[in-house]
Amino acid sequence: MTEMEIALSGYCKKDITSCTYEELYTALLHIVEAESRKRLAPVKGRKLYYISAEFLIGKLLSNNLINLGLYDDVKACLEAHGKSMAELEEAEPEPSLGNGGLGRLAACFLDSVATLNLPGDGIGLRYHCGLFHQNFADNLQNETPDFWLGGHDWARKTDKTYPVSLAGKDYTARLYQIAVTGYEGRTNYLNLFDLDTIDQSIIRDGIQFDKTDIEKNLTLFLYPDDSDDAGRLLRIYQQYLMVSAGAQLILEECLERGSNLHDLYDYAAIQINDTHPSMVIPELIRLLCDKKIDFKEAVEIVTKTCAYTNHTILAEALEKWPKHYLEKVVPQLVPIIEKLDKLARSQANDPATAIIDSNNVVHMAHMDIHFTHSTNGVAALHTEILKNSELNHFYRLYPEKFNNKTNGITFRRWLLKCNPELTAFIESLIGPGFKKDASRLEKLAAFTEDENVLKQLTAIKRDNKAALADWLKHTQNVTVNTDSLFAIQSKRLHEYKRQQLNLLYLIHQYFEIKAGHMPQVPLTAVFGAKAAPAYTIAKDIIHALLVLSKVIAEDPDVSRWLQIVFIENYNVTAAEKMIPACDLSEQISLASKEASGTGNMKFMLNGALTLGTMDGANVEIADAVGDDNIYIFGQSSSQVIRRYGNGSYVAREWYEIDPNIRRAVNFLTGKEMLSGGSSEHLGRLQNELIHKDWFQTLPDFNAYVVRKNQALADYAGNPLNWAKRALINISRAGFFSSDRTIAEYDQDIWHLG
Ligand SMILES: *Cc1c(COP(=O)(O)O)cnc(C)c1O
Repeated sequence: MTEMEIALSGYCKKDITSCTYEELYTALLHIVEAESRKRLAPVKGRKLYYISAEFLIGKLLSNNLINLGLYDDVKACLEAHGKSMAELEEAEPEPSLGNGGLGRLAACFLDSVATLNLPGDGIGLRYHCGLFHQNFADNLQNETPDFWLGGHDWARKTDKTYPVSLAGKDYTARLYQIAVTGYEGRTNYLNLFDLDTIDQSIIRDGIQFDKTDIEKNLTLFLYPDDSDDAGRLLRIYQQYLMVSAGAQLILEECLERGSNLHDLYDYAAIQINDTHPSMVIPELIRLLCDKKIDFKEAVEIVTKTCAYTNHTILAEALEKWPKHYLEKVVPQLVPIIEKLDKLARSQANDPATAIIDSNNVVHMAHMDIHFTHSTNGVAALHTEILKNSELNHFYRLYPEKFNNKTNGITFRRWLLKCNPELTAFIESLIGPGFKKDASRLEKLAAFTEDENVLKQLTAIKRDNKAALADWLKHTQNVTVNTDSLFAIQSKRLHEYKRQQLNLLYLIHQYFEIKAGHMPQVPLTAVFGAKAAPAYTIAKDIIHALLVLSKVIAEDPDVSRWLQIVFIENYNVTAAEKMIPACDLSEQISLASKEASGTGNMKFMLNGALTLGTMDGANVEIADAVGDDNIYIFGQSSSQVIRRYGNGSYVAREWYEIDPNIRRAVNFLTGKEMLSGGSSEHLGRLQNELIHKDWFQTLPDFNAYVVRKNQALADYAGNPLNWAKRALINISRAGFFSSDRTIAEYDQDIWHLG
């Protein structure tokens, strides 16, 4: 027997063949935890605390096995007993602790920190249901709770607790920990806080619950609906639970390691991931003042310890809270925030940089920039826009604080785990070094003229498309044509990401095919996206895509050439199936609006070509691969910013002048769509496109159609050249490893260890 067989059957107390997958999963979870513990390492110098409302970690078993070097042993052991790794993975629920790119970034970062052997823990919340589970009924999104905590999860309850005062009442935050082991690296922790009193039984009618019953509801859901006061207050309660318990944990650990708190920054580097954890600043100041450090020094200590990452320029996404909300939830912080506001005003005689504005609204990002030592954007273009427009007032005040850290993804999950066939092939060509040093992918450039290599690459893509097709058949009972081009747009549903532009293209193609203008190759347009429960237009877009999908499927003239597949409940597990199967990656946000994107990087790494605007990290992808190996279209960010600046965009003019646009927009409420769709939803979307179109879909429509059809023609016309360009994309993806991103954070901001 192999060691793994002995360990597994020993744990299960029976032969592996007679174990259920549930039993094997539980056994492996414990074996992995024991192995992970062996890689805990003492912390010398400075330790990172990455505070984030979200950690979209995905399933952990396979990833942990890979990082511990046990994956092949386990796989062989299971197969020797007639069991499959794929079915074993089904036994694990996906932890539901994040929403989208920001949360996934935090998860990639934890992997890279541990892989680079740096000391660094995450701090967040242990949501019981996290983000909702999505399914479709009557062509509409339905939301239900995602109960992922089933007893066999990775978060270990500890006996550490911290008192947290919410609205003047004391609560007890309990610490849970998930071990995070790097690839051939050390083990760190993801620290998650929760209350013992949470009661899942108060959830009713989908995801409704009494929003005022803090004791029972505080950590039930990530981003509870904030369309009313109670929901908004609940978000502040959650944020304070996270930062207060987190700040106490940080101070406790630093004291244990010998800090006298005056030197806190020699022991801790705190990264504030977007504005949700911003209250950690006044909370730390409060705690330090409780320890008899004077206010001025406390402010200095905290400023030197903390750094802030900005993730958006969308005004509505920059958090600001009416002061009276804070007075209700965290009265203990309000005098501190007021003093910080005074300090900020004395440093800059500019109301635009005030923390508390003239309407008594508290701007969290402003507090972050004044009272941390670093503000970073997440892609080169994003950082430039922050410096030159959105945060220009601050940039002029503190030019030295601003820096860029282009996002990245962990290749362990987004290549090794999700695409084992491609990983093995790359390894056969250039050896295994790329797994830890992503820049070595450049060695693949030597094979771009090797026909045999290109054919194998094409065969791998075909296998991955077949695997996605099988999964779709088995989970959603849809059949897709694997000889078609797979174009995938998977990301949160948001108007700035412009799923509606893709929708208009698909309607356009419907008309073209009806008129006998066939594309060069059949197209399968795959979507995966959740809409925030209160985001009406986003839900209308989902509705339109689902209805259109049926209109096309029921029309045999069109369905041979065009199919729309909307994957239910897009999450990390789904992403891992979709991304390796993609030919064309849709990254079509309105230029200037997508801070970075990381989906774009995952697709590139897995050999998809990008169809995108010059936005976020698409710009850096375009730089890396060159114009011939990417499909760029649309307005530039400066054109867009100018249009917003002079208010010159009138959607209606584009609609009236351009017959193709008019035809596509009108179709939304034509008889075909209304036969299965709702006139309320479709009419509202149509109205929005004609009368508002805030994210300037219509000006980019024609360029998008031309570029996308060019891609279809290239794919059909010269498959070998397509494979060559895919290989070039893979070979240039090294820069987008989160190992590189983390090394930069460490070098410029954290200085760990
Ligand atoms: C990577 C990822 C995202 C982010 O995608 P973008 O295209 O960058 O918005 C969102 N959700 C999941 C599940 C992901 O894996």
